[in-house]
Amino acid sequence: MRAHKPYLFYGQTISLCEQCLMPVPAKILIEDNDVFFQKRCRDHGVQKTLVSTDATYYKRCRDFLKPGDIPLAFQSPVESQTRPWKLHARVDDRLRHTTQTA
Ligand SMILES: [Zn+2]
Repeated sequence: MRAHKPYLFYGQTISLCEQCLMPVPAKILIEDNDVFFQKRCRDHGVQKTLVSTDATYYKRCRDFLKPGDIPLAFQSPVESQTRPWKLHARVDDRLRHTTQTA
């Protein structure tokens, strides 16, 4: 019997649920040279998505890219119902929820 090869846990990020498109916490997993997001939606459960077949390239991009941020002051009125900081608060709630129940 072939031994199960464990995933390398590479990091954590925010992704979108494939069904409700809400931001959900995602673990970045590397197996051989494939990169997966393992997402956990409160309503739709765990989803595993292949995001890259070249882990080396993926890591290089991730080191290079700057994470998203929010401007200190908006230059024009923001009309969206979903304000970015509220979106972040919701994601943080979900992350806390996940860590508490894990
Ligand atoms: Zn969902």
